[in-house]
Amino acid sequence: MALDPQDLIRPEILALKAYHVADPSGMIKLDAMENPYPLPEDLRKLASGLTHDAALNRYPDPQAEGLRHVIRTRMAVPEGAQILFGNGSDEIIQLIAMAVARPGATILAPEPSFVMYRMIATFCGLHYVGVPLTEDFALDADEMVLRIEQHDPAVVFIAYPNNPTGTLFDAESLARVLHAASGLVVIDEAYHAFAGSSYLGELLRHPNLLVMRTLSKLGLAALRLGFVAGAPKWLEQIDKLRLPYNINSLTQAIAARLVENVDRLNEQADAIVTARGQLFHALADMPEVRAWPSHANFILFRVSDALRTFERIKRHGVLIKNLHGSHPMLDNCLRVTVGTPAENATFLNALRASLA
Ligand code: PMP
Repeated sequence: MALDPQDLIRPEILALKAYHVADPSGMIKLDAMENPYPLPEDLRKLASGLTHDAALNRYPDPQAEGLRHVIRTRMAVPEGAQILFGNGSDEIIQLIAMAVARPGATILAPEPSFVMYRMIATFCGLHYVGVPLTEDFALDADEMVLRIEQHDPAVVFIAYPNNPTGTLFDAESLARVLHAASGLVVIDEAYHAFAGSSYLGELLRHPNLLVMRTLSKLGLAALRLGFVAGAPKWLEQIDKLRLPYNINSLTQAIAARLVENVDRLNEQADAIVTARGQLFHALADMPEVRAWPSHANFILFRVSDALRTFERIKRHGVLIKNLHGSHPMLDNCLRVTVGTPAENATFLNALRASLA
């Protein structure tokens, strides 16, 4: 007899909705926190030369040593901290979750935050505890400490700045979380390039702290490269779960040379920060819109009917992200990635027309 998925697949997986990625064909793409700028021409030439020279018949360097050296020096990873690479930081979240997935173990994160923390906890059979942010999307430090004491999570994930709110949680609240947690605390700095604040320098002061970064928002989303830095005693264990050769040779070669030129990528990030300020003011000036200040490369805003506004903006050829229904605190919320000034202007015109 033919078997049904229900007979074989874990019930929590059957209950999941697949992560949906919208089809962006022909649209201005402001849905996925990508850098809107292509790589400068000289760096493209560099990348194509590296592609030409790559030994595609050989497996990649399993330890990515060349890349490791460049990341350590150019991204100011402290001496004494180790680095582990992932195929995007998504993979690192998964490796950490798999490593701690003992029966009954818990992952805790503030909510709303990056949906992968909850999804990957489910993939790995972990309990997940979401602790609501305050109404203005700040960290509720009292509630975080209370729930950490109650559930003793194996890992606390904190996106800093937070996705999708753009908030940079305050240092005092984070200090309380770090103090209260007896398990790992992972500070996910995916949006670091737009925030100007980091916990990398704190690594040696907090033995259970891990700091995660990605190149995805720096203009290199296609390479799929993230890393986590922290005490060797943790990363040596997590590394056992990493599949061999998870970082392909093209990514290793290109990322190493481009990170040597990280100043050039940061110039683009600076342009995005300037454009973010202009976009925020334009949104804040619209009486029908409530926008939240952002330290990342996107802005969260609320309208009276998110689905209708989202669809109308889409009909104007602009794809943003509808967050309505993803979390109760995100009712009628939309998230727009900061694009080029021209893309932002097209988006604002589409939004104005959609609200009319
Ligand atoms: N962390 C946060 C907070 C994110 O928003 C994202 C991407 N949306 C990621 C991690 C994953 O990034 P990547 O896998 O591209 O490195």
